[in-house]
Amino acid sequence: MALLVQKFGGTSVGTVDRIEAVADKVKAFREAGHDLVIVVSAMSGETNRLISLAKEIMEEPTPREFDVLLSTGEQVTIALLCMALIKRGVEARSYTGAQVRIVTDSVFNKARIQSIDDCNMRADLQAGRVVVVAGFQGVDEQGNITTLGRGGSDTTAVALAAALKADECQIYTDVDGVYTTDPRVVDTARRLDKITFEEMIEMASLGSKVLQIRSVEFAGKYNVPLRVLSSFQEGPGTLITLEDENVMEQPVVSGIAFNRDEAKLTIAGVPDTPGVALRILQPISEANIEVDMIVQNVSADNRTDFTFTVHRNDYRRALDVLQNVAKDVAALEVKSDNKIAKVSIVGVGMRSHAGVATKMFKALSQEGINIQMISTSEIKISVVIDEKYLELAVRALHSAFELHKPEDNH
Ligand code: ADP
Ligand code: ASP
Ligand code: MG
Repeated sequence: MALLVQKFGGTSVGTVDRIEAVADKVKAFREAGHDLVIVVSAMSGETNRLISLAKEIMEEPTPREFDVLLSTGEQVTIALLCMALIKRGVEARSYTGAQVRIVTDSVFNKARIQSIDDCNMRADLQAGRVVVVAGFQGVDEQGNITTLGRGGSDTTAVALAAALKADECQIYTDVDGVYTTDPRVVDTARRLDKITFEEMIEMASLGSKVLQIRSVEFAGKYNVPLRVLSSFQEGPGTLITLEDENVMEQPVVSGIAFNRDEAKLTIAGVPDTPGVALRILQPISEANIEVDMIVQNVSADNRTDFTFTVHRNDYRRALDVLQNVAKDVAALEVKSDNKIAKVSIVGVGMRSHAGVATKMFKALSQEGINIQMISTSEIKISVVIDEKYLELAVRALHSAFELHKPEDNH
């Protein structure tokens, strides 16, 4: 008997039939004697539908009102799931984020959880009820509804598990675990029995949307046992774990992540003087645009090229800002490309192995794929390439690092 927080994603609650199937599953866990807090997402497609409605009215929806709108999707599924449970004789009670009192900061659309009041949930659990909580939402100190960013129900689940000191946080989704890469892109992708928090944080931040990055950070910080499982089939799923003592036994590369959401901007022929990077990037950050990769070339004739990437949604704005900067710093030219993609290999084993980058570059060059930018950290190597080669690159790397083979064969 355990206290479990279980989260069911959009596809898992995408129709009334699927909600009924989740209710059957929850009932079985309850009958096995577990205490349960269930977090649900909106029905699949619903959050996107709400976003398009807002955008029909205004291109940049007012952040506060946007969150009032977006949070409604999850309110529908908590009520429907509770009804399905009650129909089955399982006592259950639904809560919006505000009703629990999941308090966040006031950064609408990407709020961060600051505190969780566990009183109502504990009282319900004590009384033998299943608690059903709306994912992705909270409330700020002033009582405004906030949302936690796309995929934010994962973070709600982990945060509740941390607050309640749950025995495990289980993320039920439409795949049966975390794979070596997105199984929808590479059909030989293999489910991992476990992956370290560190690797999962990198995978999530480099584009693997199977878990929202904040949820993994939270789980790592508060030591929440976290598991990804399928809503539709039985199986052990993938456990997100602390790093194994014996690093030499870790596979060199555990997974491949990719991201189509970036755009690249270059300001060329910038006079190479102290403070120039600041003069370029400060206006970008003042426009609230996040920069990902940055490369400054070695200068020639006292001029240098400066390239960086931003989220594709910020591409137009970043280009406008950069064109103004170019005039200010007397640069020769601004170039840009929003048809790029970033591919990354991730693995804690890289720390203790040499030659990983060479193997990556060789695999890409054999396919004739040109690398436009490179960035590395201790446990990942990322490259920017032409978007049209993305799937080819992921497949080539998956096979070069033999990720289709079971781990002990590496
Ligand atoms: P949910 O609606 O349940 O939150 P998501 O769509 O957010 O589900 O996340 C699950 C999806 O993540 C899968 O359908 C899969 O296509 C994608 N995905 C991307 N990278 C991976 C990976 N490395 N392992 C498993 N799934 C991945
Ligand atoms: N419904 C929200 C989204 O689609 C949150 C979530 O599903 O985790 O992003
Ligand atoms: Mg998700």
